Amino acid sequence: MPEQLTTTQSLMATYQRFPLELAKGKESFVWDTDGNRYLDYTSGIATCNLGHVPDEVKEKVEHQLSQLWHCSNLYQIPQQEQLADILIQKSCLDQVFFCNSGAEANEAAIKLARKYSQKIKQQKAFEIVTFNQSFHGRSMATLSATGQEKIQDGFYPLVDGFRHLPFNNFEALNEVSNGRTCAVLLELIQGEGGVIPADIEWVQELARICQRNGLLLMVDEIQTGIGRTGTLFAYEQYGIEPDVITLAKGLGSGFPIGAMLAKTDAAKAFDPGSHGSTFGGNPLAATAGKATLETIQRYHLLESVQENSKYLKRKLDILKTKFHHSIVEIRGKGMLLGVVTKQDAITVVHEARKKKVLILSAGQNVVRILPPLTTDRAEIDSFLSVMEEIFDSLEKEGEDLWKKDI
Ligand SMILES: *Cc1c(COP(=O)(O)O)cnc(C)c1O
Repeated sequence: MPEQLTTTQSLMATYQRFPLELAKGKESFVWDTDGNRYLDYTSGIATCNLGHVPDEVKEKVEHQLSQLWHCSNLYQIPQQEQLADILIQKSCLDQVFFCNSGAEANEAAIKLARKYSQKIKQQKAFEIVTFNQSFHGRSMATLSATGQEKIQDGFYPLVDGFRHLPFNNFEALNEVSNGRTCAVLLELIQGEGGVIPADIEWVQELARICQRNGLLLMVDEIQTGIGRTGTLFAYEQYGIEPDVITLAKGLGSGFPIGAMLAKTDAAKAFDPGSHGSTFGGNPLAATAGKATLETIQRYHLLESVQENSKYLKRKLDILKTKFHHSIVEIRGKGMLLGVVTKQDAITVVHEARKKKVLILSAGQNVVRILPPLTTDRAEIDSFLSVMEEIFDSLEKEGEDLWKKDI
């Protein structure tokens, strides 16, 4: 194992963890147990969209902590209803199902699509089309939906009924509807797959095909949602109205919560007993979700994401020109950006950590940058100067450093 990656005896080895133990977080920064401060441009993988421990959410959750933590979904939960109301008001969807994670939100969408086909439309169609390089989760159904063999390897047989097509490929659209298809599930920016934005015209054509053939258009907004791309949901920038969207990551500002939202026609497929969750939308999680959405609105964070993103992208483009031996492309939207590198992205991630900046990779060659929506120009500038230093020394040292196993 490379020297910088550690593992603990008593934990299953599902993660290769960086040798960094975090003790505290506030806004865009985290502190390790030795008191070192890091600029966190991972947002806990697109989760702490308001930065760490945001006061507005903390206060509301603290109050709820003293009132009621858990309440079964057999009773009315006003916090859950209020969060659902806000999500409905701010989207084109009509009803919400709450759960605890992204995989569960997609699992709910998959079940809804099948039940919609079988019970509402009285059809036998059950196939869901998804795309290569997609990521939809780690449960058996969602890893079967995922278009990456490395996620599926060793877990065969997969859940039946998923068909993977090439992403952003116009010709493949002819294969979407085949009589057995009931829905399409896609990310509008493939996050884990390498920060790959879907082409607008391709998505619009896909939406028309769904409309013509009565297929549910389901958008996985687990990474792109909750303001990450500069609109509350990424679909708003594509001129489409999905039938279903799924949310998780940023929805609770780090408090675990997931949601599946659907238009009335599709939502009708679920009735009492169709689906459920013990913890889903409990008073604490729903309170965190509501406070998160209210804070995004109160501080006009969508506007500041749009402005800061323009600035950050422009500056990254300048770095790309300067370091054209290392940087191939800058892509993404809002605060979900990818720097495509010629060499291993993880090298940049390790170098950045040494310089007290946390970023991520996505696949072999993409440095993934996920600042909190609340970041400012000063933080962006300090991030950029670290990136500049790293690429500068990498280009100076040339190929050798890239090849070194660090
Ligand atoms: C993270 C992610 C998931 C899975 O979410 P979990 O909460 O880890 O289950 C699904 N889809 C997308 C697009 C994601 O980014």
